Amino acid sequence: MDRAKDRYLLRFDDVCPTMAAGRFDSFMNIVEYHGIRPILAVVPDNQDPELNVDNPDPRFWARMRALESAGATIALHGYRHVCQSSGTPLLPLHSRTEFAGVPQVIQAEWIHSGLDILRQNGLSPRLFIAPRHGFDSATLRVLVDAGMPFLSDGFATRPFMRNGVVWIPQQLWEPVEKPRGLWTICLHTNTAASQVQDSLRFFLHRFADRFTSFDEVTSIIEHTRLNWRERVRETIAVSRLRFKSA
Ligand SMILES: [Zn+2]
Repeated sequence: MDRAKDRYLLRFDDVCPTMAAGRFDSFMNIVEYHGIRPILAVVPDNQDPELNVDNPDPRFWARMRALESAGATIALHGYRHVCQSSGTPLLPLHSRTEFAGVPQVIQAEWIHSGLDILRQNGLSPRLFIAPRHGFDSATLRVLVDAGMPFLSDGFATRPFMRNGVVWIPQQLWEPVEKPRGLWTICLHTNTAASQVQDSLRFFLHRFADRFTSFDEVTSIIEHTRLNWRERVRETIAVSRLRFKSA
């Protein structure tokens, strides 16, 4: 992968049996049309009432299997998506999260149970995505122990290694053209305004060939730690977002 050019990853969050299935399908049609291989952040045992938009879809897991066979990457998106812990996450963007501050032994239980649920439904989860960016160093230790040392988060412009885990940065919440680096665009299909579909369509018409996949990113790039310049930029990005969401 050429780092001098801009590259994009597409990620869809809050995927679960009670999501707004029709809206999700419309986004998948766009993705399929352009041959994009997105990351699907699946909540294994959703208990968050905000994600109960439709009745549980009996075809949900079959649909996920089909999308994975077609090239999508499955991510473990937390466990129950219930954000009740007030511990401080490594990326301190929200005061309440599901994982940050929870004892490591409980986090391990949640992550292993979540992985079991996805695997029992025939999926092969490849990376972790914490609800509300909420994870701490215990979460990273659990991911390493579980043999899945990958997450989608952070504010660099390239994947990097920290605490034994490869961080694939996620910095955008809508399609935006960027001059260089790797950019992950995260979309929430339950709540996305209708013009988000139009802007994604428009963006993909222009830039579909610049989209990459989890497999490509993790197989080609040699992951190193961030240098001090990148760390400074990361700190600035976090404090900006923190200020915005306060
Ligand atoms: Zn979420």
